[in-house]
Amino acid sequence: MKSMLIESQLQELIRGLDKFSVPYRKDVSLAILSSFKIGGVSPLIVEPNQDSEIFEVLNLFRQLDIPYRVLGGGSNILISDHPDDFVVFRLSGDYKNYEMIEPGIFEIGGATNTTPVFRQISQKGFTGAEFLSTIPGWTGGAVIQNAGCYGGELLDLVSRIDFVRDGVIQSKKPSEIEYGYRFTEFLRDKDSIILRIQMQLQAGNLIEIEESLKDKRDKRNSSQPENKKSAGSIFRNPKVLDEDGKPIKAWQLIDRAGLRGVIQGGAQISPEHCNFIVNLGGAKAVDVHYLSELIMEKVEKTSGILLEREVENFGTIP
Ligand SMILES: Cc1cc2nc3c(=O)[nH]c(=O)nc-3n(C[C@H](O)[C@H](O)[C@H](O)COP(=O)(O)OP(=O)(O)OC[C@H]3O[C@@H](n4cnc5c(N)ncnc54)[C@H](O)[C@@H]3O)c2cc1C
Repeated sequence: MKSMLIESQLQELIRGLDKFSVPYRKDVSLAILSSFKIGGVSPLIVEPNQDSEIFEVLNLFRQLDIPYRVLGGGSNILISDHPDDFVVFRLSGDYKNYEMIEPGIFEIGGATNTTPVFRQISQKGFTGAEFLSTIPGWTGGAVIQNAGCYGGELLDLVSRIDFVRDGVIQSKKPSEIEYGYRFTEFLRDKDSIILRIQMQLQAGNLIEIEESLKDKRDKRNSSQPENKKSAGSIFRNPKVLDEDGKPIKAWQLIDRAGLRGVIQGGAQISPEHCNFIVNLGGAKAVDVHYLSELIMEKVEKTSGILLEREVENFGTIP
């Protein structure tokens, strides 16, 4: 049974935020902040602009025993229809910026939009990060799950990650943390907020870079449901090989289980790419959750493989 935030706790928090001039918004529909366009109303979103504000906010959360969850671009989560038992923490201000601090060395804020930022960086003549220009969401969220596609993974390009853990800012190289396919220790431990990263890229040929950007964009457009509200792949690909020694993809298992196109309420297992669930309009979090449970159950029955969710529930569902 979930417990609502107590009104007096929220009032205390708001007094503290006002004292330190930390921006916040009350009663915000989270649906507009998610790529699924699903989610209920949050009592409070706190949006710190800089490191000093983050310390004040985290102190207040600790002193007042406020549960909170970090939201980025909202492209890898399923937000609860009733997200009223926690406060939302979302980076803003300084974290929306990036800059080239030396030739080829970029410092990129956790609240930057990955698609335009990595397209712009590539078009400045630096190569290696073109694949990131096709992934939605924010850089902080991309670090958390080591986002990747077309053979590339974000953390292979990163030289430093700045994050706050236990009230202290730390900087680590990827080699100093645990990470792998769509995984980092941050995802497992949930005790850190990614503030920014540093990345080093090689200078490249602009014509080849433009071709690479277009190639990745074309691949994306041909393999994904276009203009549909989704959170990308719902399940990670299992680490299992088929009889020819090729890795089995989650979509193949969902397809073989006969689930392509199944509808629940306003949600559908995409007929075009069946590892996507799409919001046909008016879908609730419970509809998507029902379909993802159905997939897990049927795929396990037909293949013996238990799929692992990539898209996280944000709040309690149902
Ligand atoms: C159409 C579509 C295609 C996609 N294709 C791909 C793909 O090819 N490859 C891929 O890897 N992903 C893909 N995704 C998934 C998603 O875009 C990425 O995982 C993205 O990097 C998530 O970032 P976000 O900011 O949206 O995270 P959110 O969805 O906001 O959050 C995801 C998780 O990260 C946490 N989080 C977010 N920001 C921070 C932070 N600063 N500090 C600490 N925790 C944080 C949240 O609490 C949550 O647990 C796709 C999604 C869509 C909608």
